Amino acid sequence: EIGLEGATDEEDDLFARPPVVTIMGHVDHGKTSLLDALRKTDVAAHEAGGITQHIGAYQVVSPSGQKITFIDTPGHEAFTAMRARGASVTDIVVLVVAADDGVMPQTVEAIRHAKAANVPIIVAVNKIDKPGVNPNRVRQELLQHEIVVESLGGETQEIEVSALKGTNLDKLEEAISLQAEVLDLRANPHRAGEGTVIESKLDRGRGPVATVLVQRGTLEQGDIVVAGAEWGRVRAMLDDKGRQLKEADPSLPVEILGLSGVPAAGEPFVAVEDETRAREITEYRQRKLREKAAAANSAARGTLDQMLARIQAGEQKEVAVVVKADVQGSAEALGVTLGKLSRDEVRVRVLHSAVGQITESDIQLAKASNAVVVAFNVRATTQAREMANRDGVEIRYYSIIYEVADDIEKLVRGKLAPIQREKFLGYAQILQVFEVKRLGNVAGCRVTEGMVRRGCGVRLLRDGVVIHQGELSTLRRFKDDVKEVTNGYECGMSFANYNDIRVGDQIECYEVETVAAV
Ligand code: GDP
Repeated sequence: EIGLEGATDEEDDLFARPPVVTIMGHVDHGKTSLLDALRKTDVAAHEAGGITQHIGAYQVVSPSGQKITFIDTPGHEAFTAMRARGASVTDIVVLVVAADDGVMPQTVEAIRHAKAANVPIIVAVNKIDKPGVNPNRVRQELLQHEIVVESLGGETQEIEVSALKGTNLDKLEEAISLQAEVLDLRANPHRAGEGTVIESKLDRGRGPVATVLVQRGTLEQGDIVVAGAEWGRVRAMLDDKGRQLKEADPSLPVEILGLSGVPAAGEPFVAVEDETRAREITEYRQRKLREKAAAANSAARGTLDQMLARIQAGEQKEVAVVVKADVQGSAEALGVTLGKLSRDEVRVRVLHSAVGQITESDIQLAKASNAVVVAFNVRATTQAREMANRDGVEIRYYSIIYEVADDIEKLVRGKLAPIQREKFLGYAQILQVFEVKRLGNVAGCRVTEGMVRRGCGVRLLRDGVVIHQGELSTLRRFKDDVKEVTNGYECGMSFANYNDIRVGDQIECYEVETVAAV
């Protein structure tokens, strides 16, 4: 496997490394506050002169001298996205539960994710400074989700904290250190550095910048590294306090400069012996990425084709649909319209119809019931889209109700052919708007994911809502028309017959491909 250079480590080469912790929990239960409060417990911050910067992860030295690394993106989206890429970064999950609110849906989701990843949980019952709160209720509620805390005879450590007042943060850090000891976290620092990209961006002044977590070996300034499908020489390395480092050992998050492009979060990185090897690996990875994309496409194609084949053969008697729409009226109208398409031979069943973007739970539902997801003027979250690709769940995008009805009816009658299928290309963010004679308004954009291609379909999103769907009419870099622009780069875009664009709008780009008739 490329990425894990060299042999496995000998027992003698393994040394204790600090634990890497992710904080999860329901919205507003205090994840961000707790991350901020824990950061302030760092005894090393004072030496650094207190200049801290956000680099996606930070390491504290607790008052008792223990080092702990915290991933600074709260919530389970980042955790799941990393896992989806096969990266296991987190050693311990701190589950924040607000004492005044108790176990809520995202608490349960966090438990499910941590358990699925086999990562031990420490419960932080937060907001105990609030008058009249009852942490016992939280303990009881957790029981229902198979989390048995120590005070109830179980094995899960549990600390009552107040992120606001800074209460018991030392106890929480002790609990983390204890859990780390139990896990016997060790790594070999005497080898080439490797680990995972936590976060990355294209910085105006500094070029591609990646926050990486070193998981094995020692990363050194001047190393040639491969990160995802990008490579480069580590020109500079900074910690979360903004200090320049010459080297970084296991469990230390650092920001590195010098990469050729912006690798995605969750991608592996590794230091290699020379440029030739770096090119070899990146070329291999880029080929793999293309193969994966092709495989994902054919997997998605497979499900609908299989469904059609089963309907044609009289084996499938039901078409299940999950509907997500931009407004309640459309969701209801679609529900009614689709329901009417039921025939004696094949029934249409709307499993779920709601307002909002497509999330992972929609995909889970669709997958479990072999359903098609209908997206009406809404889009899928990145995580949901990746999950759908992986699991072969079909998401179909529409903005006209009769087109939905038409497609589903064809499916019900076993005549859906040829299929027009949408292929996601990428996202761009509008940074500036220019008025250009003859062209109208031109958006100065940065591509933030995937790529944008000349003539592709675009969906303009404002505050997560689709406000326009149409076509790209020009795509430029500097003064030149270009064919495509990839992640991390800036470009100018204008839209066919459409001018209402604003700074902050997001552009989703896609292509429509026609799949051979079934
Ligand atoms: P997140 O959505 O989980 O990241 O939650 P935040 O950290 O943004 O906190 C949500 C709200 O709860 C904010 O208004 C915080 O000030 C408040 N909060 C967080 N921790 C505490 C705490 O320990 N005690 C009290 N009283 N309020 C808290």
